[in-house]
Amino acid sequence: VYQHLEKGVPVVQKYGGTSVGDKDKIIKVAERVARIYRQFELPLVIVVSARSGDTNKLIALTSEINANTSFYVRDLALAAGEQLSVALLSAALEAQGIKPDPLLAFQLGIRTDRNHSRARIKSINTDRLAQSFREKKIPVVAGFQGINDDLSITTLGRGGSDTSAVALACALKAGFCEINTDVDGVFSADPNIVASAKIIPTLHYDVALEMASLGSKVLHPRSVELGAKFNIPIIVRNSFSDNDSVRTVVMSETTKESRPIDIEATVVSGVSIDKEVVKLTLENLPKNSQAIARIFSVLSGHQVNIDVIVHDRNRDDFLTLGFTVSESDREQALAALKCVKVDGAFSNLNVLVQEGLEKVSIVGVGMRSATGVASRTFSALAACDIDIHMISTSEIKISCVVDRGKGEIACQCLHEEFLPG
Ligand code: ASP
Ligand code: MG
Repeated sequence: VYQHLEKGVPVVQKYGGTSVGDKDKIIKVAERVARIYRQFELPLVIVVSARSGDTNKLIALTSEINANTSFYVRDLALAAGEQLSVALLSAALEAQGIKPDPLLAFQLGIRTDRNHSRARIKSINTDRLAQSFREKKIPVVAGFQGINDDLSITTLGRGGSDTSAVALACALKAGFCEINTDVDGVFSADPNIVASAKIIPTLHYDVALEMASLGSKVLHPRSVELGAKFNIPIIVRNSFSDNDSVRTVVMSETTKESRPIDIEATVVSGVSIDKEVVKLTLENLPKNSQAIARIFSVLSGHQVNIDVIVHDRNRDDFLTLGFTVSESDREQALAALKCVKVDGAFSNLNVLVQEGLEKVSIVGVGMRSATGVASRTFSALAACDIDIHMISTSEIKISCVVDRGKGEIACQCLHEEFLPG
């Protein structure tokens, strides 16, 4: 892809935690960066994550001292992981005879909102990057961190370095953003579950976003949102593979790619699984929409993220409402429902909790126009004897909630049905 870039168009390369995990890998990354920089003479920006494991260690270290540390203070500790990676990779680049320009968020002006531990980027000043390009330096930027309007350090949420990299690529109008990681691209399913899972060559932003949100860990969801908004191709590839044709390009039909790539409107691009699903069933609710509105407003006030919803108003004089939340939101959800119960109208409310459910989803842009996808999905699951508790669909996705332990088999059945071979 590099040889097809127009002269002077910058590229952003991000290296993840495993790619800078030890001394030898850092040296290999520096060699790759130096080789590409010298061969193509392009303005290049490098974004790094903390070395794998460092962020977890920093969290543990902080909470050993105070388990209730404010997110404000904790972000300061967390941001240190990326600072170290910037220094180590810069040292390795110097050894290659390259002039690095090591940069933390405050030097670059990566401005975020005030939400410590899950801040969103508001703006990036590219003046400093332009200056480094003029001085023939390679900026090496700390991912994951930003500064808010008080100049305090913020972090973007776990896995947020992807978002730093794509945000920089958007601000620079880069040719593309390369996400270098320890796998060859985005797989059509978890290869540990589906042996025949393959690397997806081109993936629509919408599908990549669904897959990222459904728990496929390769890309931070917000990075895909940004890529889509600014139409910057995101290339996911293996840091240490020389085979340039094996990778996933995340783009849309309208993305200006330096080389025309057909975005295949595959009916189903991937199958994903989420094993942390909890279903809450609320019985004896008053039979009106005010009741539903009230329940969800209290849940949202408790920051609970609701997923699949079903409701049944055909029984008796009451309403039954079921919805799923992720395991990590369960306590908050139950706390919220306790608050609701205090209200007189909800005194008969009965809450049933069903844990350990699993959600299996198929995703693909081709679903927009294809017919028979739902029928094939349910027939495939029926053939494997899998019961479905709940179903939710969008234009490009069908999700089924299934029993504990059945999700992996469901993944295999659906992959075989839609992506055989
Ligand atoms: N170091 C941060 C994390 O582990 C950010 C990243 O790696 O993307 O979440
Ligand atoms: Mg990551």
